Amino acid sequence: MICTIALPVPLRRSFDYLLPEGLQTQVGCRVKVPFRSGDKIGLVIDVKTTSEFDLNKLKAVNEILDDAPIITPQLLQLFQWASAYYHHPIGDVIAQAIPTLLKQGEPDSLKPLSAWQLTAAGQDATQQDFSRSPKQLAAWALLKGKPLTSAELTTADVTSATLNALAKKNLAEKIPQQPQYQNNWPEQFSLQQQKPELNTEQAIAVAAISNKEAFGCYLLEGVTGSGKTEVYLNLIEHVLEQGKQALVLVPEIGLTPQTVSRFKARFNVPIFMVHSELTDRERLDTWLHGRAGSAAIVIGTRSAIFTPMLKPGIIIIDEEHDTSFKQQDFFRYHARDLAVMRAMREKIPIVLGSATPSLESLNNALSNKYHHLSLKERAGNAQHARHYLQDIKNVRLNSGLSPQLIELMHKHLKQGNQVMLFLNRRGYAPALLCHECGWLAKCQRCDAFYTWHQSDNAMICHHCNSHRPVPHQCEDCGSTQLLGAGVGTEQLEETLAEVFSQYKAVRIDRDSTRRKGSLENYLDGIQSGEYQILIGTQMLAKGHHFPDVTLVGILDVDSSLFSSDFRAAEKLAQLFTQVAGRAGRASKPGQVVLQSHHPDHYLLQDLVNNGYQDFARSALSERQDALLPPFSFQALFRAEATYANMPETFLQQVKQIFSGYTEQYKQIELIGPMPAIMERRAGKYRFQLLIQAPNRALIAGLLSSCMEQVEKLKSGIKVRWSLDIDPTDF
Ligand code: ADP
Ligand code: ZN
Ligand code: ZN
Repeated sequence: MICTIALPVPLRRSFDYLLPEGLQTQVGCRVKVPFRSGDKIGLVIDVKTTSEFDLNKLKAVNEILDDAPIITPQLLQLFQWASAYYHHPIGDVIAQAIPTLLKQGEPDSLKPLSAWQLTAAGQDATQQDFSRSPKQLAAWALLKGKPLTSAELTTADVTSATLNALAKKNLAEKIPQQPQYQNNWPEQFSLQQQKPELNTEQAIAVAAISNKEAFGCYLLEGVTGSGKTEVYLNLIEHVLEQGKQALVLVPEIGLTPQTVSRFKARFNVPIFMVHSELTDRERLDTWLHGRAGSAAIVIGTRSAIFTPMLKPGIIIIDEEHDTSFKQQDFFRYHARDLAVMRAMREKIPIVLGSATPSLESLNNALSNKYHHLSLKERAGNAQHARHYLQDIKNVRLNSGLSPQLIELMHKHLKQGNQVMLFLNRRGYAPALLCHECGWLAKCQRCDAFYTWHQSDNAMICHHCNSHRPVPHQCEDCGSTQLLGAGVGTEQLEETLAEVFSQYKAVRIDRDSTRRKGSLENYLDGIQSGEYQILIGTQMLAKGHHFPDVTLVGILDVDSSLFSSDFRAAEKLAQLFTQVAGRAGRASKPGQVVLQSHHPDHYLLQDLVNNGYQDFARSALSERQDALLPPFSFQALFRAEATYANMPETFLQQVKQIFSGYTEQYKQIELIGPMPAIMERRAGKYRFQLLIQAPNRALIAGLLSSCMEQVEKLKSGIKVRWSLDIDPTDF
């Protein structure tokens, strides 16, 4: 027999090996094989009797690591689909999708637990033997019943010191114990909490999706606070009732502890979380609980889409428009798109929820590829926020705040409410400027200015993370008159402390929340009313509920209005709507102020007067006119190197290869090679070549015909290059 093995190597192919007599394996099992000068662990993706290679030259499998497949056929098919669709090596797709420990050959079983039992001498002991040690007596009495796990003993207040003392007397001993999957949650399942009665729109959504045992993709377009999470909870309830599992993807789990606690409060079932802070062991255990069906609900970020499920019932993608679902390096998959493919293979419904759906998903809904459900009203008795555009042309700003906004803040704060200010620039000032000659401190490795961070007393480049001390003198003219140009969150915080000295402000950005647990502390402080003014970057825009915030100020939107990225307007509209949605979520009406030098800009007008729904539909028709995604499809080759000519030459040659197929693929447009928007970053020159076509199949066809040749290009060795299908970032 011959096995085809996917190996974690950067080659866009799999490898055939002979299966020696007497060895048996099946698709989905791990094997150890000789590769180049060493050994590698790979996954069997086919077992067959013939090979296109010369049998005499095939090497043999060394060792079979699994008796049974470690993954389901559905997942393996998904990996193969992803490998073909993203033109990414199958071995690397699998290596990124399965837990690290499995990749390293660890058995696919839960972490062994330890337990304690009495020795023979311990069984024979009597109460009198412990007359001088009540603690040991208690432990002995517990263990006399039956062996107990270390966790159970800890719960019973038995310390390891006590147990070690018993062990020293040879009365008790530690034994390994194989943990069990707790699969009995369906029998014990019950609701733990009173739940609100659904309003009509919610009830329609729940009825449309629940009890569907087939694939279907549902876009749940619901304004912020309209009760989407409540819809998810009701859908999951139906799924759990049938003993099936739910997979929920969220943008950033650390940022939304409230969502997770709502799930925990509602259901008495095992809920597992997948996020970047898990250890390798925790990640493997979670994965195994999913596979065994003992994880009733799995909530996680992007990579959670690869968690196996024994009895999948539903997949939910919350904030489906969020850019964090797209992986931006190595295997550049989009978790939302993979989730749709997975739901199709598992034959289950998938829900994409958002107040601000991506134009891609909205287009799929409007063209009836997806079912479209909307929640137009805010749940409970919350009202829609009122929006204002504040013209700041010729207005003297105080750290980015207009006098009108300051006055409004006073009004809201006096009434005992909270105010949130949104500024998407961390640090003290986005640049350091010489007041005498205009010199600006520029990063030597990037086409970018240093951000001045006063709290770290450093200049930091936000693109390559290089640090340097704050200069005392201008490097051009020697003047000591250096000033910050522009406003960052640190500076805003400083100004607020002066202008609003009677109120307490909290700043939430990547710098202030670097310490573990600090974000939770700040969020608690906001909930309890310790802080009255909230300053944040887009971190603060994601999914939080701040019931006492009645005023939101968005300080600077102008940079997004004139960006070269065709998605900038969509992103701004999403951000605005999400941030605005933080205001007035409870019974208090909210107010949102948007400061701009271009208050008449059609995009801002549309957003503020008509809302995201309207904006998104006109943005879609603009994209249609311009033949941009989702009305066309793109793939992007990126290349970078220390010398500018190398990436350009490589991409020229790639283009040359494609040109050989122009007859066949007339409708494909090749744009470039051209410098990336930021041409130099971290010391490397960056170029790109964009492929655009009216349908996916054309791009797929061209790439399948050409990738082998592209990979053989000699100029490719001198650059770092990558291929990004459906790129979102240019
Ligand atoms: P979203 O996920 O759309 O932002 P949530 O589900 O978080 O909205 O709901 C917003 C608030 O309204 C929450 O406090 C939630 O408990 C409440 N809520 C949701 N649905 C209802 C309902 N049918 N009746 C009363 N309150 C509701
Ligand atoms: Zn100067
Ligand atoms: Zn830099």
